[in-house]
Amino acid sequence: MNAEIIAVGSELLLGQITNSNARFLSSHLAELGINVYYHTVVGDNADRLKDAIEIAESRADLIIFTGGLGPTKDDLTKETIAKHLGTTLAMDEEALVSIVAFFERAGRFMTENNKKQALVLKGSEVLVNHHGMAPGMLYKTDSHHYILLPGPPKEMEPMFQFEAKPKLAKLLNKEDVILSHVLRFYGIGEAELEDRLQDILDNQTNPTIAPLASDGEVTLRITAKTNTEQEAWTLIDGAKAQILERVGQYLYGYDDDSLASKAVEMLKEQGKTISAAESLTAGLFQSELASVPGASAVLAGGVITYNEEMKKAHLGVSEDLLTEYGVVSEQTALAMADGAREKFNTDISVSLTGAAGPDAHGDQPAGTVWIGIATAEDTTAYRLQLSGMRNTNRLRAVKLALSYTIR
Ligand code: ATP
Ligand code: MG
Repeated sequence: MNAEIIAVGSELLLGQITNSNARFLSSHLAELGINVYYHTVVGDNADRLKDAIEIAESRADLIIFTGGLGPTKDDLTKETIAKHLGTTLAMDEEALVSIVAFFERAGRFMTENNKKQALVLKGSEVLVNHHGMAPGMLYKTDSHHYILLPGPPKEMEPMFQFEAKPKLAKLLNKEDVILSHVLRFYGIGEAELEDRLQDILDNQTNPTIAPLASDGEVTLRITAKTNTEQEAWTLIDGAKAQILERVGQYLYGYDDDSLASKAVEMLKEQGKTISAAESLTAGLFQSELASVPGASAVLAGGVITYNEEMKKAHLGVSEDLLTEYGVVSEQTALAMADGAREKFNTDISVSLTGAAGPDAHGDQPAGTVWIGIATAEDTTAYRLQLSGMRNTNRLRAVKLALSYTIR
């Protein structure tokens, strides 16, 4: 089965939003083993949408639409598809009930227009919208499958994942079990990882191994397709063992793990607490840790000491040290980490100081970062030379600091 995704919305063509729906859908379709050959974007225009549908029908078996299911005049996806397929729209009673209930709960007045959202293609399977009003649809003809999804990602994503995807999986082959396992790496670039695994990547068929890099992290998604779950895991474990033999030292977690969640987990296990002294990242490091449920068991607190005065006042960094070595230096990172550890009385303290860019900081070029880690045993500092834009550098520095924490 091969698919085309048609994103409907003039905002997409005007450059006001990015087509993140297509990205999301493509990655999930890949997991199902469905090839996506085309992404199409079309504005809120019935004629051009009709053209797009005809072209898609000539080259795809499955056509997935997102957007234009809402109540306003420019939302014309289902009307256009109904007309094109020679079918009509019918009121879905269940959807109508939930829309009425939504307005009652919100204490808002419901217009006739809103009822329009409960209209579905006659003969379609309805996909329930748990996060909004417009239902989605799965419609079959002799030659094609059509899936209609709402535009807002927070409605579309769960609808696809939990309503449409299982139906598609079933449709593909009742016998097939498709399982994915993600390996997460840190401290190695995508190119180097691929280089070290070249022959494995070249010879993969089942399971498939897909590398993906983002925000300084690299992941490998291993996907196996077989008859039983046990067989799928056997295939996955085989590939995993081969991969880890070569690059296992860079692995930090699996599936939904993040560097922050691993750091919290590890500190919890060791019964340790952490604090931070942030200059460069102005709280991002602590925020990242705090995004993990249960972080309060390990994160005591920290300070944002952005200028030199605050480093002196709150962390006891001396004037002399700052004058001699500068604010972006190993000595300052060490002094900040020690200062925070003393102030917050934690097992570990992390400091971040650097020149985020685009300008250099004195004689320190943009992207120079020092990360200090203070523990009961010793205090160490790591120097990084990052090459991204200002905020990418700040985020990278946080991730690296987390990776040093779990090292
Ligand atoms: P609504 O009921 O909210 O009008 P809808 O199904 O009619 O939903 P649209 O009106 O086309 O969808 O889009 C609503 C919003 O959803 C857009 O303003 C945009 O924020 C988001 N959106 C739509 N299409 C996409 C897309 N392809 N990628 C990411 N976001 C999208
Ligand atoms: Mg709309």
